[in-house]
Amino acid sequence: MNEHSPEGSGRLRADIDLTALRANVRSLRGRLTGGAGLMAVVKADAYGHGLVPCARAAREAGADWLGVATPGEALALRAAGDRGRLLCWLWTPDAPWLRAIEADVDVSVSAPWDLAAAVAAAREAGRTARVHLKIDTGLGRSGCPPREWPGLVAAARAAETSGAITVTGLWSHFACADEPGHPSIAAQRAVFEDALAVAARAGLDPEVRHFANSPATLTLPEAHYDLVRTGISVYGLSPSPDVGSAADLGLRPVMTLRAALAGVKRVPGGHGVSYGHEYLTPGETTLALVPAGYADGIPRHASGSGPVLVAGKWRTVTGRVAMDQFVVDLGGDTAEAGDEAILFGPGDRGEPTAEDWARAAGTIGYEIVTRIGSRVPRVHHGVSGATGT
Ligand SMILES: *Cc1c(COP(=O)(O)O)cnc(C)c1O
Repeated sequence: MNEHSPEGSGRLRADIDLTALRANVRSLRGRLTGGAGLMAVVKADAYGHGLVPCARAAREAGADWLGVATPGEALALRAAGDRGRLLCWLWTPDAPWLRAIEADVDVSVSAPWDLAAAVAAAREAGRTARVHLKIDTGLGRSGCPPREWPGLVAAARAAETSGAITVTGLWSHFACADEPGHPSIAAQRAVFEDALAVAARAGLDPEVRHFANSPATLTLPEAHYDLVRTGISVYGLSPSPDVGSAADLGLRPVMTLRAALAGVKRVPGGHGVSYGHEYLTPGETTLALVPAGYADGIPRHASGSGPVLVAGKWRTVTGRVAMDQFVVDLGGDTAEAGDEAILFGPGDRGEPTAEDWARAAGTIGYEIVTRIGSRVPRVHHGVSGATGT
């Protein structure tokens, strides 16, 4: 363990199994075709698992690159001593372009304004900025529209010739890779191939072409190119039930979320439970209080449906999830304050998984782990060089 909350890790904590994370990275690397490398995506505090320990573990397991969304995330990695290849892709005009380029961060560019920002920062820094040009092959989010691509490529090539930048990457992102066989997948690949050809004709010779997120990495070897960008699978979750379960994919969930019961009491039949009294006890029963609420990232949409292992059995959230707590009806069973409640984990001790929570809340496993709040300490196990954890 390398983190302790001022309030103690008893109430609610997220145990992070870095041994599992390293095994997931190795397993994913083992699937790559044609010598492709692996970028571990560690944006959003490593999907809620803790940025720096997860980034280190991913590097130890052979991640060739790290990927983040925001410049703040990139600079946090550099401040923590990470010196490897690192791509950052979500830029605004007022972002710290200069600091990122001075810190040797590869930057993504989709339009003339961000190319100009990279060039200006490179000149100011007195160094060559490393740029990945992004084509929108159909996601409709960031990336250069195909009809503007030849112009962006020509401008980037001119900036390269002037010495301000070097185009190290050409890349794109899938819209529906989590639905294998979706027609947009082939359509996006065709647009990407055209974009690569345009870039080659303009004289660009990038180090890496990259397209695949986790679902494409797992289902579409033709899209591995020189590098894959895996996020959710590094944390041991499946990108979608359509792609397979974590176990089918050889992945092990990294986060276990557990609480200590904050109280247990007997109440008579007909007793309302939690805000709105959406639940009335069907008869005399035992209620357990779990000190975890939506302020901790427990979805309020899982009111009445979220699964939790308490007193040896899988049970469900009883009534509404409140800001800091929810209740579980134990029926004829008993428990005591301080007993463990496991909300989710790898699933092999009978506990629910993040994917079970996603189903209960009508969302995806990505959101379940990423939204776990800052009030919840992350306790990292299997830190390299550490003993006894
Ligand atoms: C988040 C993200 C990824 C990782 O996606 P997963 O499905 O979690 O593997 C890859 N590329 C980009 C551009 C992203 O924003």
